[in-house]
Order: sequence, then structure tokens, then C-alpha cells
Amino acid sequence: MAAIEVKVPDIGDFKDVPVIDVLVKPGDTVKKEDSLVTLESDKATMDVPSPQGGRVKELRVKVGDKVSQGSVIAVLDAQEAAKIAQSDVPDNMLAPRTETRDAAAEPSASASDSKALAGAVAQQGARSVREALSSTLASLDADLHAEVLVLGAGPGGYTAAFRAADLGKKVVLVERYPTLGGVCLNVGCIPSKALLHAARVIADAAEMSEFGVSFGAPKVEIGKLRAWKDGVVAKLTRGLSQLAKARKVTVIEATGTFASPHSIEVQGKDGRKVISFDHCIIAAGSQSARIPGFPSDDPRLMDSTGALALDAVPKRLLVIGGGIIGLEMATVYDALGAKVTVVEFMDRLIPGADPEIVKPLARRIEKRYEKILLKTKVAKLEAVKEGLRATFESAEGGSAPAAEMFDRVLLAVGRRPNGARIGADKAGVTVNERGWIPVDRQMRTNVPHIFAIGDIVGEPMLAHKATHEGKLAAEVIAGMEHHAWEARTIPSVAYTDPEVAWMGLSEPEAKSRGIEYDKAVFPWAASGRALGMGREEGLTKVLFEKGTKRVLGAGIVGVNAGDLISETVLALEMGADAEDIGLTIHPHPTLSETIFFAAEMADGSITDLMPPKAR
Ligand SMILES: Cc1cc2nc3c(=O)[nH]c(=O)nc-3n(C[C@H](O)[C@H](O)[C@H](O)COP(=O)(O)OP(=O)(O)OC[C@H]3O[C@@H](n4cnc5c(N)ncnc54)[C@H](O)[C@@H]3O)c2cc1C
Repeated sequence: MAAIEVKVPDIGDFKDVPVIDVLVKPGDTVKKEDSLVTLESDKATMDVPSPQGGRVKELRVKVGDKVSQGSVIAVLDAQEAAKIAQSDVPDNMLAPRTETRDAAAEPSASASDSKALAGAVAQQGARSVREALSSTLASLDADLHAEVLVLGAGPGGYTAAFRAADLGKKVVLVERYPTLGGVCLNVGCIPSKALLHAARVIADAAEMSEFGVSFGAPKVEIGKLRAWKDGVVAKLTRGLSQLAKARKVTVIEATGTFASPHSIEVQGKDGRKVISFDHCIIAAGSQSARIPGFPSDDPRLMDSTGALALDAVPKRLLVIGGGIIGLEMATVYDALGAKVTVVEFMDRLIPGADPEIVKPLARRIEKRYEKILLKTKVAKLEAVKEGLRATFESAEGGSAPAAEMFDRVLLAVGRRPNGARIGADKAGVTVNERGWIPVDRQMRTNVPHIFAIGDIVGEPMLAHKATHEGKLAAEVIAGMEHHAWEARTIPSVAYTDPEVAWMGLSEPEAKSRGIEYDKAVFPWAASGRALGMGREEGLTKVLFEKGTKRVLGAGIVGVNAGDLISETVLALEMGADAEDIGLTIHPHPTLSETIFFAAEMADGSITDLMPPKAR
């Protein structure tokens, strides 16, 4: 009998990752891609799938063990895999055909093994027949049937719907709002970046006076600016509707909640309807977190949607939360003339990023903003006639700044997933206590024909993560021979001024995990392009693996850092090393050269600065 050792595959740069769940036991029959164990690093939770079907002969790990690439997790009985392949199970539940051929030459299994296996196979077969039956039964009572129903039309949902339609599926997309695009297009990424562009032009124009070109104070026509921003959003959301139509995706404007494992009840302007489905992709996203006890219906207390509506520019704005969204909106309102105070509970801004790359941003905004209060929280917010009165409290229990009055307050303390608001229990879909829906590496929930993607499945809550997951879920449903989630990193960007962008391993993470690295930090003060833009405060930092000099991570702060970071993401995905980047000719003079210079610093071949070893 051939025994196959199942090893931890390439999991990027993670080492000694704890096993937090063991999902099988000796004797269990598994299919190819079934999850065997769950690993959890400080950045991600990942399931290790079975490379083929078979029977678990032996488990080599238990909860709490630490594993790295190559660690043996389990031993599978290959002959049992062959038996499964020869049986009557539907195609998509079989181990690859080559296994059948190889194993056909093996001696037959014992009678008791065969019996157990026959039971397992019958169980699997029965499950899939039950699945098909319940889908058909649900469709009998439904107003509409979808092969793939997508709940929520944000970047995750519309991408999943479009990809599934392109792969030949009959798709219904349910969205409660009249426009497609979700938070990102309507009240997130796109309107914020339009306003940030205006903010950048205002700041750049003002700063040009130092170099001898003065424009005078800007005259901001708030209505016109708002209309321009709304126009950008409308162009994109209209485009999405046209794309949905062209792909024959049925869009239903209604709020959907599960009625059963194979149906969703929708309530919209056309009344109540039931839509049945073979597969469902939950893409219902997230919403702004609130703080209990703060005024609930005072328009002067805004969330990010209220801030983006831009109905007025307050004299004094308090931003609660020094994360990405809070600081982006602070950038906009500061440029438009508000006096901004930022209050952050942690000891630094953008707590998720490497402090070294946040520092240049902090230095710049400390000069521009009225106050930045770290290690401080707003304990009380009272609505009075003159404004909103904020009482501060020290995070460490010491003295806190005196209470102050603000014209408006922006609450930007994070986002909550919408998992608890879609009747998931009616479908048997697990939602954890924080509202996240756990999924495996193919975006499948605990209910095999229901998938979940985007903000609702976990951090980082970013549009490009949602779209990637949406495509993956659609392709898995369409039966594409897909390998599951393989991306090594998801880049993050704060589109502040300067921008802060990072990806892969950060230096604090490398230190805390005992990963040996070399780092190269190229100061933008040595970049001709940055100097020519009057923006030499930036820096480009790249971490390389000790010995191999392969890229492990990068952080960039400076204008357009969000665009620059992509090169380092590609380098990480392709396993590039310092020499690969250093031998790639970058156009001069560009900010992209700062990545090339950092690689040359690591390589010791830099000429634009003294090489680190010679200094
Ligand atoms: C101010 C702001 C700026 C941001 N900037 C960026 C950025 O620059 N880059 C970036 O990557 N990310 C950014 N984000 C985050 C990004 O918007 C989200 O990560 C992304 O929109 C998540 O996509 P999603 O498809 O998971 O969900 P969402 O975009 O939240 O879409 C979910 C959709 O589901 C619908 N829905 C929910 N429940 C139901 C229901 N029961 N029935 C019917 N429909 C339902 C909602 O109406 C919504 O349209 C920003 C967010 C904010 C708030």
C-alpha cells in the first residue's frame, strides 16, 4: 500500500506557524482539496488542503504544534484514494484520474477497509444527491432560479458575478442600493481618491510659493467639487450596470436574507420574492463601526460616508481614529481649510504599518494639523448647540487634554462585517461572534455550495482583496481546476499626503518572528525626481531574505507610494532577489528608481550613494 506524506506547501515567508485546528482524524476519507488542518499566523489564517483523495492513515500534528513549509502533517493511504476514484462519486469529488491508473495495479484493500470506504463513498454520493434535490425543490417554490446567486454588488460581488457569467453560469446579483459598486465605488475608494486629488493639487499649489510660483489662496466651490466627485462615481457605477447587462447578469435591487440553504428571500421596490440557487456567493461587505453612547442622529457626527458627502467644511474637525480612513479624510478637510485634530488610542498613527515608514507622514501632518493626540481616546461626546464637545481620556490612565468643542466629528474607528445581518443561520452558514464568515482557501463556507468573499470574510478589508477572492470563488464554482488562494501578499496603501504603502513582511514582524533579514532604506533626499518635486521626505525600504537576498517585504512613504509599491509586490510574487531588481533598467528620473536604488544598496552595487559597507 503506497503511503503519501502530506506536507505543508509553500506558504510564503511564514515559518513556525501554529496549528489552530485539525480538521480530520485517522480513518477519515478525504477528497482532493479538502482541508486537513488550519494554520494561523499573525497575518492570516490558512487551511492546508489534501493534495489528493485518500484515507487519513496517520496524523503527524496536533493543535498547538508549529509547522513550516515541508513539515509533514499527515500520511494518506494512496490505495484508498484509488478506490474512491474508481467508485460512482461525481467527477468533481474524485481524486485525479492518474491516481486511478497507478493504484489499479495495487493489491486490493481488506474487506473492512472496503466496507468503511464504501460507506464513506455512499455518504458523499448521498450528500451530493441531496444537494441537487434540495436545490431543485427550492427552485419549485421560487420566483427565480440562479445557478449562481451573488449577494452584494461591491467590488467582490460584481467581480464574482461577472466572472461566473463569463464562465457560462446563469447569474443573479442582489444589491440593496440602486447603484452597483458597493462601498468602494459609491462611498469609499473612488470618491475619497477624487477628493484626495483635489487636496493634493491645493497643497502642491500652496507649496510652489516656496519655489517662486504663487497662485494665491484657493477659491473652493464646494458644490462644484462635490458634483465633480459624484460625477466620477456615477461614470463608474453606470459602466458597471452596462457591463452587467452585456453579460446578461440579472440585477435585483432588493435586500436579501437567506430563507434556506438553497434560497434567499429578497425585499425590494417590487415587493417580496424568493430566489433559489445552486451556488451562492455572499459578498455583503461591511459598515462603519459606531461607539455606543455617542449622539446617534446628529449630522455633525459623521462616518466616512457623511464626510465624503462634503456638505460643509467645518472650522474645527475632530477625527476619531488615526488609521487609514481617518487620516485620508483628515488630508481632504485640512486642504479644504478645516483645522484638524486627530485622536488615536494607540501610541502611533496607522498602527498596522511599520513605524519607520509612517514617521515622514506624521512629521508633515504634525506641522499642518491643529493637534495629533496619541494614546488618547474620546470618552464622551456631547451634542450641544455650539457644536460637539469631546472629553478625552488617556489610554494609559494618566492625565488627558481638556475637553474641547468641535464643529464636526468624524468617527473612523474601523469597520464591522455584515455577517450577522443576512439570516445566515437559515442556510446553516457559520458566522463568528464578530460577524465574520469563516472560509477555506477556495472561499467556501462550512456549507459546501455557499461561498463568501470580501470584507465579510476578514482582514484586510480592501477592495483588491475582495475582487481577487470574487474571481476565485466564481472559478471554483465553475469547476475550473483552480489551486485556491495563492497570493503571497495583499498590499496596503494609505492615500494620505505623503502616501504610505507596504506589502509582505514588515521589519517589526520580522523581528518578532525571529526571521533573519537584510534591509535597504533609500532616502528620497537622494532622488533627483523627488527633489525636483520638492518632496524629499519620502523613503523606500525593502527587506531581503538573509543569504538569498529574495524580497521579503517593502514599505514606501512619499508621493505616489501607492503606485510604486506594485513593483515590489510583483518581485515578491516572482521570488525576485536584489540582483533581479538591480539589473532591471528603471527609467530616469523617476520615483520608481528608489526601489532599484534600494536593491542596489542591498546588493552593494549602488553608485548614487556610498555603498553601505563602505560607509
Ligand atoms: C472611506 C473609505 C475609503 C476606502 N478606500 C479604499 C481604498 O482606497 N482601497 C481599498 O482597497 N479599499 C478601500 N476601502 C475599503 C473598500 O471599500 C472595501 O474593502 C470594499 O468595498 C469591500 O468590498 P466588498 O465587495 O467586500 O463589500 P462592499 O463594498 O461593502 O459591498 C457590499 C455590498 O453588499 C450590499 N449588501 C449588504 N447586505 C446586503 C443585503 N442583505 N442584501 C443586498 N445587498 C446587500 C451593500 O449594499 C454593498 O453594496 C475604503 C473604504 C472606505 C469606507
